[in-house]
Amino acid sequence: MKFTSTQIELAQTLDHQDKLAPLRDEFVIADPDLIYLDGNSLGRLPKRTGRVMQAAIEDAWGRRLIRGWNEGWIQAPFELGAKIAQLIGAEADEVIITDSTSVNLFKLVVAALKARPGRPKIVSDAFNFPSDLYVIQGVIELLEQQHRLELIPSADSLTIAPEAIEAAIDAETALVSLTHVAFKSAFMHDMAAVTEQAHRTGALMLWDLSHSVGAVPVDLNGAGVDLAVGCTYKYLNGGPGSPAFLYVRRDLQAELRQPIWGWLGAANPFTFDLNYTPAPNIGRFWVGTPPVLSLKAIEPAIELLLAAGIDRLRAKSMAQTEYLIFLADQWLAPLGFAVGSPRQANRRGSHVSLRHPEAYRINRALIEAEPPTLQVIPDFREPDNIRFGVAPLYNSFVDIHRAMERLKRIVSERLYETFSAKRAAVT
Ligand SMILES: *Cc1c(COP(=O)(O)O)cnc(C)c1O
Repeated sequence: MKFTSTQIELAQTLDHQDKLAPLRDEFVIADPDLIYLDGNSLGRLPKRTGRVMQAAIEDAWGRRLIRGWNEGWIQAPFELGAKIAQLIGAEADEVIITDSTSVNLFKLVVAALKARPGRPKIVSDAFNFPSDLYVIQGVIELLEQQHRLELIPSADSLTIAPEAIEAAIDAETALVSLTHVAFKSAFMHDMAAVTEQAHRTGALMLWDLSHSVGAVPVDLNGAGVDLAVGCTYKYLNGGPGSPAFLYVRRDLQAELRQPIWGWLGAANPFTFDLNYTPAPNIGRFWVGTPPVLSLKAIEPAIELLLAAGIDRLRAKSMAQTEYLIFLADQWLAPLGFAVGSPRQANRRGSHVSLRHPEAYRINRALIEAEPPTLQVIPDFREPDNIRFGVAPLYNSFVDIHRAMERLKRIVSERLYETFSAKRAAVT
């Protein structure tokens, strides 16, 4: 998409033409002078979620009490998993909602390494989310240092070259574990090509979809992916700390053994057998009692995403990140900003990182502006990235225009200089 004008009228026209624009009304927007561009860290609250939660608390918990387990609670991790499956190209019985992304990764990494004995190598990349790498490092220690982790480097800090991936995966590789869309630069791997490479040498492939699900089309079955994890509080708008999902391809489910043998992962939890027999299906990747209230909060936004259609959301998101980069080139490059994300839209997820030596203080100035001045909420990632997450369900082109205009003003008038560079607990 080519943009010709930096005037707000263009953004207004694009919003007017946007068939998904009415979906914004499905979300709680408490303050119209707050531009929220952090849906890649914590999605907005859908209006319906408040009503669903109220019913879950007052009617289900309050009135039905323990009977709730047989009135839908116990199936919720599977039923909601089946809905997420539709967003990621999986079958209904290949996805379950449980635990956190980090814990799910732990379970699947151990299961994968056990399934590839004698192969000492785990391949990941320098863009992976630290928690993913820490979990892998912890597994290596747990398994008595029989494995080593090799990180594919990035030559330009924006992308990972296909040749570098090819060079890293070999016959010693048990597992390739990557995040599909990188949390910092938004670089997006070619899922089908990398999965194919892993399989060629007999390795298993695990994708972390935390920054992809709900924002970009994912076709796990189409790419033949073995394993995947992802969180539900980013583009899935499930609320702070909502439980994560995991995917195991159907034909691997009976073969893989995950290491946390909880009672709900057993074949027959309510026979209370004293010895563990794993469920024959995706259920064996379950552990213990699910957080029912948090599960309930996930459903409303998934319904919205499914109704909007992931291909239409992706088309809008690509146009919007393209527009953001256009404005950054016009207004911000002269002020010392560099685009910290791939310029090729099909190699980029749904956020854009803008880099500046004063990024931390500029980010604070965007967030902490005193009303009635416009407040903008992106987030900051070390050392110099301000991440602007575009959630096509509720972000408008005008949001992007207003945010970039505010950013230009903060830097050109040096308004960030009154803010401290001392890092807050959560950046
Ligand atoms: C957000 C995110 C996580 C979060 O993991 P938690 O266990 O929910 O804290 C993990 N991996 C990636 C790639 C993420 O973006």
